[in-house]
Amino acid sequence: MLGLMQSQPLLISSLIDFAQRHHGDVEIVSRRVEGDIHRYTWADVARRSRQLAHALDGMSLQFSDRVATLAWNGYRHLEMYFGVSGSGRVLHTINPRLHPEQIAWIANHAEDQVLCFDASFLPLVQAVHAKCPTIRQYVMLCDAGKLPEGTGIPNLVAYEDWIGGQPSDYQWPSFDENSASSMCYTSGTTGNPKAALYSHRSTTLHAYAAALPDVMNLSARDSVLPVVPMFHVNAWGIPYSAALTGCKLVFPGPALDGKSVYELIEAEGVTFAAGVPTVWQMLLGHMKPAGLRFSKLKRTVIGGSACPPAMIRAFQEDYGVDVLHAWGMTEMSPLGTLCTLKNKHLALPADEQMKIRLKQGRAIYGVDMKIVAEDGKELPWDGKTYGDLYVKGPWIVAEYFKGEGGDPLVDGWFPTGDVATIDAEGYMQITDRSKDVIKSGGEWISSIDVENIAVSHPAVAMAACVGMRHPKWDERPIVAVVKKPGAEVTREELLKFYEGKTAKWQIPDDVVFVEAIPLGATGKILKTRLREQLKDYKLPTA
Ligand code: AMP
Repeated sequence: MLGLMQSQPLLISSLIDFAQRHHGDVEIVSRRVEGDIHRYTWADVARRSRQLAHALDGMSLQFSDRVATLAWNGYRHLEMYFGVSGSGRVLHTINPRLHPEQIAWIANHAEDQVLCFDASFLPLVQAVHAKCPTIRQYVMLCDAGKLPEGTGIPNLVAYEDWIGGQPSDYQWPSFDENSASSMCYTSGTTGNPKAALYSHRSTTLHAYAAALPDVMNLSARDSVLPVVPMFHVNAWGIPYSAALTGCKLVFPGPALDGKSVYELIEAEGVTFAAGVPTVWQMLLGHMKPAGLRFSKLKRTVIGGSACPPAMIRAFQEDYGVDVLHAWGMTEMSPLGTLCTLKNKHLALPADEQMKIRLKQGRAIYGVDMKIVAEDGKELPWDGKTYGDLYVKGPWIVAEYFKGEGGDPLVDGWFPTGDVATIDAEGYMQITDRSKDVIKSGGEWISSIDVENIAVSHPAVAMAACVGMRHPKWDERPIVAVVKKPGAEVTREELLKFYEGKTAKWQIPDDVVFVEAIPLGATGKILKTRLREQLKDYKLPTA
């Protein structure tokens, strides 16, 4: 017997309809590429998304055709989130930090038909357009009549000219909720990138889950700053969850330096912000010397790479801001776990609570997880046993776009490539990417633990730990360190700093001071590149 409730597909267009009807006067504030601040409302987003949908129809784009973006976080990008997917096309957000060759490869693989880009990416588009034969329309996200002369880019139009004359009475189509809505290519540190292809259903369910109190706790009373880019896993789904809750949105544009982000947080009464640790490092680095405080910021979700304990403490203890440590990946839309305390933890002393907060957190409803040994056997949730982390759920990939890489699942589970522990309360802690784990004398050393201790030293700005071949122990860890400007620390001092903070055999064998640590397009440490840079390095203990 079937239930007798109305069946209505979960479509992204319903999110923007809802925001318009119930929160139409709520502001969306953007720092533009031009540097000025732009303000309008959810009602304007809805109206202009419809105009955009008309413009796409005018090009005779088919259902599921791909429309690409190379854009910062801003209001026009938000309109594309709703106008492109809402009209049945697939939004392909491209990471502009990728190498131009890789961008061209991705655009060809996705068979993008339209590319919309911020003015700051004009040189990038000039460099790649000749290699992108499928793109038939280029759109610069700029004011009417503001296209520069002689760009050499064919079929180029200014966004405001493109949508400006279009009617705003578009009727969103209804279709199968499992239809593709957007796509995002993985960073592809090995081999060619592969695309996660999200659906309307997976995106809407993820938006519901992300807004929950034990997740981002978004509401109509919040002012939300997604510093996490809209070109990387849909800014962790925040644009969709924002429409669903009717919160105010604040977009930083390209100005991600500490001063600009701080000023925006204060000027717009931001209560909740989301970003990767490197961006927050710049923010705290700006605030501390100037003795600045937050007036409204209450919570920040930090993820994308392990959040160093020193950062969680700084936010919590120095600024009274709750840090929600989150873990996820492109293949997971991206949210998998988020760290919030349970009722029983509230009575614990602060340092015990901090030990929990340092973990990547508990699974969100919709995500099932387990850790397994090399033979595939499930491992216990005891907070000590390490294993490969597997996940499954309705917003986790079943396969990659065009079947690249074959069947990624193992018995219906997606192997994340991360190594983790899970404790009896269900709190998961990432110890490493499986390819980065250091195997020393049959034991595993977590490179994240080694890095976290190094960055808690006051003279250290950044640290990356890698394993080096060792004749006796197989591998031993060393830590590459970037010092803070003007700060001093010696190799011996730093190695001494580890004593008492970790088991003796987990202390790195050496410290290598470097000018910079190589970062990939999504801000994560590129250990492969670091290992190449250190290929002539010899362990002092070998
Ligand atoms: P991406 O698909 O580019 O978002 O990368 C996903 C990967 O980033 C995960 O598989 C993890 O290795 C890493 N990651 C994300 N969040 C965290 C976190 N909070 N702690 C440690 N690693 C993380």
